[in-house]
Amino acid sequence: MGMSERFRPGREPRLGETRKDNMKIGEYNITFFDAGEFRLDGGSLFGPVPRVVWNRGNIADENNRVAMPLRCLLIEGHGRKILVDTGVGHKGSESYNEMYGISFARGTLDGFLEMQNLKRDDITDIIFTHLHFDHVGGATHLVAGQPWPTFHKARHIVQKKQLDHSLKPTERDRGSFAAHDIQPLVSENLFVCLDGDTEFLPGLWILEANGHTPGLQMIKITDGKQTLWYSADLLPTVMHISLPYITAYDYDPITTLKEKKNFLQQALDGNWIVAMPHDWNISAMYLKQNERGQIVKGEEVDV
Ligand SMILES: [Zn+2]
Repeated sequence: MGMSERFRPGREPRLGETRKDNMKIGEYNITFFDAGEFRLDGGSLFGPVPRVVWNRGNIADENNRVAMPLRCLLIEGHGRKILVDTGVGHKGSESYNEMYGISFARGTLDGFLEMQNLKRDDITDIIFTHLHFDHVGGATHLVAGQPWPTFHKARHIVQKKQLDHSLKPTERDRGSFAAHDIQPLVSENLFVCLDGDTEFLPGLWILEANGHTPGLQMIKITDGKQTLWYSADLLPTVMHISLPYITAYDYDPITTLKEKKNFLQQALDGNWIVAMPHDWNISAMYLKQNERGQIVKGEEVDV
């Protein structure tokens, strides 16, 4: 069987496909888009869960990798144009791109901005969920072979804890951080550091979590009636709603477990729309409880 046949359940992406419909919550227009895709080893992605369980949908390619979109958000409101993450970017060497299966068949950040009639300098803020290469790479590009910031006018928002950690990662997680993604932003003084949960704009919260990496930033937008929670890599895919599914890349998996329980319960109780960065088929959904009392995927939200 060819890879494309057994590669994925659900639909294949159409060439150049990008989400372009808006979600509106209060004063905010929220647009989902994919800044490309990449692949990670399924064993690492699903942590302690064995392949015979996680690969029931035949989602692994011939190298045991699982393809995932690099889903980002554009949030417009209160006079700001905010990106949440920037994808992996285009600085990778051929061998690097091959190792991570990086492809832009689902779209690019620049292509998305063009479609929205936005210039790079129109972006006022970039909220980085964290500084792993698949989230921050698109904030720099090569100029004469050197990495250079792409969004000069934007405040680059990060938790202080995450920036500090990214500059001094452990031997175990340093593969997730690339100096050429982060150093140019430090040198040009573009980072604005936050310390903990912050109401960034009215009704737009940045919420801290620390299991996936110290100082992960999640987004919560609420108008009192409707709430969107962008989970960042606390829940990379729908499969990660199941509690044991915690990636091997996580810095502190037991903290991730506690944070998952806490936020999944809040999202269920508050009837939040949950959006995830790396699920191939589903951008956003509600949660529900199954007959065994477990929190599981509920109704999908079309965005
Ligand atoms: Zn990620």
